[in-house]
Amino acid sequence: MSAIPPRLEIRNLIRRFDGQPVVNDVSLKVSPGQVTCLLGPSGCGKSTTLRMIAGVEMQDEGEIYVDGNLICDTVFRVPPERRHIGLMFQDFALFPHLTVGDNVAFGLAGSKEQKRARVEELLDKVGLTRFIDGYPYLLSGGEQQRVALVRALAPRPKIMLMDEPFSGLDNRLRDDIRDQTLEILKQEDAAVLLVTHEPEEAMRMADEIALMRDGRIVQQGAPYNIYNAPRDKQAVAFFSDIN
Ligand code: ADP
Ligand code: MG
Repeated sequence: MSAIPPRLEIRNLIRRFDGQPVVNDVSLKVSPGQVTCLLGPSGCGKSTTLRMIAGVEMQDEGEIYVDGNLICDTVFRVPPERRHIGLMFQDFALFPHLTVGDNVAFGLAGSKEQKRARVEELLDKVGLTRFIDGYPYLLSGGEQQRVALVRALAPRPKIMLMDEPFSGLDNRLRDDIRDQTLEILKQEDAAVLLVTHEPEEAMRMADEIALMRDGRIVQQGAPYNIYNAPRDKQAVAFFSDIN
């Protein structure tokens, strides 16, 4: 029986700065349609891990695989633009000089009609079709984040990497945007790695949580298993922020 390889697999990734490991032997697998959350306090190595997967930072040790194919080890490296990865960061701004529609179309190949159809499909999903010919400054922060989401998803990436994508938003907006984002991510069927320092966000969005501390994954599993059985006092304290 041959098992289907995971969409994304990282094996034993290590990244050192000044000789100190900030990502220390991290291994993970993510399947299509699955949201895995890398959850941990500020400075534990979450963003560095994402940057290595995106290909904008090189690991010192370890390998990255997509659909079972090696895309990066310490000698071989597929460049970032050929990794089929979508990115969404808190401060990953829209292009101010392009219309909303052209922002979403930016990474798309195909005929003008094909691109337009994909842009309309995606803007419709986030309820922003009326802004297609408008410029980003017309949009609220929440609306801009929605456009950033569908811009990243437009070329049908195999993997979506999201680094604290909602942290700049108003508390009252956040739950709605999280729910809508999750719905769209599921429809698009990418493997999602979502980085956050907020347990609440991980509990709301993740199929699987990888709890990270000091560069290591210290516990991994379904959200409620981790919430109900944190492995140690530090994990208990970390989760106790949720109300
Ligand atoms: P997180 O995203 O979990 O907050 P980061 O991955 O951004 O954590 O950072 C992990 C650690 O690595 C931090 O202590 C940070 O200061 C350090 N670090 C990140 N990038 C660099 C760099 N280019 N040079 C030196 N130290 C870095
Ligand atoms: Mg970070």
